[in-house]
Amino acid sequence: MKLVNSISEMQNIGLSAIVGGQKLAFVPTMGFFHDGHLSLMRWAKEHADEVVVSLYVNPAQFAPNEDLDSYPRDIERDMELARDIGVDHMFFPSTRDLYPAGFDTWVEVPGLSRTLCGRSRPQHFRGVSTIVCKLLNIVRPFMAVFGQKDRQQLLIIEKMVKELNIPVLIEGRPTCREADGLAMSSRNSYLSTEQRNLAPHIYQGLRIIKDEVLSGNTNPLKLEQNLREYYLHNIPGSEIDYIKIVDANTLEQPDLAGKNSFMAVAVRLGRARLIDNIVLG
Ligand code: AMP
Repeated sequence: MKLVNSISEMQNIGLSAIVGGQKLAFVPTMGFFHDGHLSLMRWAKEHADEVVVSLYVNPAQFAPNEDLDSYPRDIERDMELARDIGVDHMFFPSTRDLYPAGFDTWVEVPGLSRTLCGRSRPQHFRGVSTIVCKLLNIVRPFMAVFGQKDRQQLLIIEKMVKELNIPVLIEGRPTCREADGLAMSSRNSYLSTEQRNLAPHIYQGLRIIKDEVLSGNTNPLKLEQNLREYYLHNIPGSEIDYIKIVDANTLEQPDLAGKNSFMAVAVRLGRARLIDNIVLG
């Protein structure tokens, strides 16, 4: 596995792949790998000739009061895991190179970025779409792979790529979960034992609501209220950031919960802000 720090070297690798007719798949990450990240890399490996994984904790997507400095990091372990999977290139760009002094070009998808996580993290998706756009321009993969756990992020990236005519396929992959249903996340490492024992209720609640939809309750507001009550009862000490049923394409509130909608939640448990979602219908 080749370690790449420089943007120009990464650009050369991407360009050589295009010229040589090699299909290069790209998995952008912020590191501290878990099986969710690894599942994306394995899938990329199976569907491409070469795989590039980037590891970069992007300051532009963190607000000043958020966990940029304490975001979990273990680069040695990450490299071993990626190497075992057969990742070909690991890209570690620096902030100095990505955001040099005077940097002032931003990519925004404002409509989709305003709702759900965008309400409590107003600059977050501007940071995400900008860094993903930059990384796609540097790596120039034929395909980039993202997780459906961050479903709002996935929609924003799909829209950005389509509307900016970026020549890449975007592949969204299912959420990897712990045996008890908790969505894997680097931020799960913030949880105390007690919080970790409560956290599976986030997904269990979503499953219960999905069952309600399947048995005929399709009133979004009522379903949101039911999940709120479930969390208040089963995850004491948590703080609900949002619970929302949204249209799977527009993220607007649908008249009825069902086939083309999903339910998304963000819950703060101690230091961790955990997100999850489930497709309804
Ligand atoms: P992150 O390092 O958290 O920015 O995530 C990098 C990529 O991994 C993103 O595309 C995420 O959506 C994806 N990802 C994060 N958690 C999971 C998970 N539990 N299952 C599948 N993909 C995930």
